[in-house]
Amino acid sequence: MSDLESFRQQTRSWLEANAPKGMLGISTTELTGVWGGKKWTFSSEDEKNWLEVMAEKGWTAPTWPAEFGGGGLSGAEAKVLAQEMRALELPPPLIGFGLTMIGPTLLRFGNEEQKKEHIPKIVRGEIRWCQGYSEPGAGSDLASLQTRAEREGDHFVINGTKVWTSYADEADWIFALVRNDASGIKQEGITFLLIDMDDPGVAVSPILLISGKSPFCETHFTDVRVPVTNVIGEIGAGWTVAKALLGHERTMIADTFGGAGLKTRGISKRSFLSDLAVEHLGEAHGRVADGVIRNDVTQIEMDSRAFALTVQRTKDAAKAGQQPGAESSMFKIYGTELNQRRYELMVRILGPDALGWEGPGFEEFALDTTREWLRSRGNSIEGGTSEVQLNIIAKRVLGLPA
Ligand SMILES: Cc1cc2nc3c(=O)[nH]c(=O)nc-3n(C[C@H](O)[C@H](O)[C@H](O)COP(=O)(O)OP(=O)(O)OC[C@H]3O[C@@H](n4cnc5c(N)ncnc54)[C@H](O)[C@@H]3O)c2cc1C
Repeated sequence: MSDLESFRQQTRSWLEANAPKGMLGISTTELTGVWGGKKWTFSSEDEKNWLEVMAEKGWTAPTWPAEFGGGGLSGAEAKVLAQEMRALELPPPLIGFGLTMIGPTLLRFGNEEQKKEHIPKIVRGEIRWCQGYSEPGAGSDLASLQTRAEREGDHFVINGTKVWTSYADEADWIFALVRNDASGIKQEGITFLLIDMDDPGVAVSPILLISGKSPFCETHFTDVRVPVTNVIGEIGAGWTVAKALLGHERTMIADTFGGAGLKTRGISKRSFLSDLAVEHLGEAHGRVADGVIRNDVTQIEMDSRAFALTVQRTKDAAKAGQQPGAESSMFKIYGTELNQRRYELMVRILGPDALGWEGPGFEEFALDTTREWLRSRGNSIEGGTSEVQLNIIAKRVLGLPA
């Protein structure tokens, strides 16, 4: 038996013995799952136990080094683990920006103390992170950011405002870009800083979205004192760290919305969209009755499958130690536009049922779909707009002149 095959058998036995029974068959959607952190409320004891047993083994972050609490698995072993979890229909025990964004960045750019301090807490889901990049005058043109960091001995004093900070009201820490020097070109003089959201002077105010939810906030810093030891990389050289993190963010967004993100409600594993279409539009000869919808469903299923396989190749390369490159921009555009097409189609399939907003008379699933459809409009903005991704592809992939 090969090493990998025996790893598979051990993994399966371990999962069968240790996964709480209530987690079997649970599927998560897009951004729903356990985000962790001090403010997190588990929806069940099983959910809490699932996180604990997986974190104990380091399998919330399977390929991260064991010395920092990760699983220490090879890329091939991590893939086997993912396959076995899928076979048992087990959800990821933990999701969030710690695992997908700041963790990989700290592993690459953080010093030993910073890794020892933060990585184990991410693996165990103890600290929830948010991202403080965008500002009222700095979105696509991120390097124009103005949040000031003034040095006072061993501390920086931070003043300024971040905007569109997803889940800032639920987060414990923020990774932020601040300006320590405004004298040179704008990409210089930016510092990548970790800030405790409980520090005096940090305040958040939620912003209501078109979907009726408030998943993001304005984050204000007023004379917030942050130790210089919280700088990741060199002072004033945060732009390099920031760009590397954006590569992880784009891959995560593409994967979340375009690849694995297909919503399910336990109807069948075959094809969620065609089940939904049959349920709402009827069936003829074992197929969706409406020919136009049938074609659209098939096209999206095919595109989703092809895209998920393409993203998987990049994830395999990442597990083998490669950093995401400019191709993450391509995935970001395609994945988010695929998600928007998928929600457009779901709303068309639901027809009048998708017109509900709240109250009785509408299925919860339809209400949720309508709000998610509106939420999906933001997919081609968050993490860098589609136009900005096209610029990156033009310059860095195609080598066109600026
Ligand atoms: C759901 C959601 C969650 C988010 N979460 C976070 C978060 O957690 N943390 C965070 O820091 N930010 C977050 N953002 C902010 C996001 O990164 C910015 O909205 C995005 O970078 C665009 O910036 P902007 O909104 O200032 O738009 P602008 O930069 O003002 O862009 C306006 C329009 O001009 C176009 N444009 C701008 N420059 C160019 C150019 N050079 N060439 C061609 N077209 C151009 C854009 O494509 C866009 O259509 C989030 C955004 C959304 C929608």
